[in-house]
Amino acid sequence: MINTSKSIIEKVRLPIGKGEPFSFDVKRDDLIDPVISGNKWRKLKYNLLNAADRKNEGVITFGGPFSNHLIATAKAASEANLGSIGIVRGEELNAESNETLKACHSLGMKLVFISRSSYREKEEPIFLKQLHNDFPNYFLIPEGGRNYYGVIGCQEIISETDNDYDHIYLAGGTGTTGAGLLLGASKNTRVNVVSALKGSFLEKEINQLLYLVLNDHEFVETYLDRLVVHNDSHFGGYAKVPTELLSYVNEFFKATDLKLDPIYTAKAMFQMESDYRNGVIQHKDKVLFIHTGGLQGALSWKESITYLQNL
Ligand SMILES: *Cc1c(COP(=O)(O)O)cnc(C)c1O
Repeated sequence: MINTSKSIIEKVRLPIGKGEPFSFDVKRDDLIDPVISGNKWRKLKYNLLNAADRKNEGVITFGGPFSNHLIATAKAASEANLGSIGIVRGEELNAESNETLKACHSLGMKLVFISRSSYREKEEPIFLKQLHNDFPNYFLIPEGGRNYYGVIGCQEIISETDNDYDHIYLAGGTGTTGAGLLLGASKNTRVNVVSALKGSFLEKEINQLLYLVLNDHEFVETYLDRLVVHNDSHFGGYAKVPTELLSYVNEFFKATDLKLDPIYTAKAMFQMESDYRNGVIQHKDKVLFIHTGGLQGALSWKESITYLQNL
């Protein structure tokens, strides 16, 4: 079992113009493990414990060819002495196609490559039935660890802090981490989830995830009152990384020594900094940023990110 004690709280002071710097805490989940990055461990923990309890041979999950979730599952499953099967989007790919897939393969994950159209149907009953027939003794973890166990694991992040923040900021993909934080955070905290994807579906997703845990619509509403979903800092959409975003990653690193990944955490930090500059966050407020990891994904932009040079 992975230990989360490396996830410290770091105090950061970000210079803002000529005034007082913006002071906030960062929960360094990115330090949990170099491969099982940040929130991916949180989402996998109870999924893997459950698979082991059920005496499953292993777990089966899904991801794109550069997926942080896929590589994290490969390593976490192997450390738990469980097998793993990764269903990968893209039938033209193979286990040598890129560094993420190579690493998954060498960690013992069996990779199954399927077409984009089949991948889109991966949650249909007929697809799932076939998968169960092919791999009967494997526990299925949805893409991104988006299930009840995932939410429960993310709830633990906040219990490793003082839990007395005015604002929490974090990046969102499936919203699983956001849902867990919302469940765990004190009722005076506003939980800000910044979507890394284009569209405005995240609030609904988080609503559904909360319902998995709370089973009561009215009860879910009381939590949603404290949720702020930001849908305007995606910089063009998922894995879209314009030069201005790369510049932001580099400037932020220069100012704070903190490494952000361009797909998720940089977008969330950008939103948080704007909210400070616009007065949504006040100087006296106590603020927590969750560093959800993702640095293995940043390697795709190696040439443009200063902290990845001279490695
Ligand atoms: C996967 C990932 C996310 C998204 O987490 P969700 O629980 O799906 O919202 C955020 N940040 C990083 C770095 C990730 O790798």
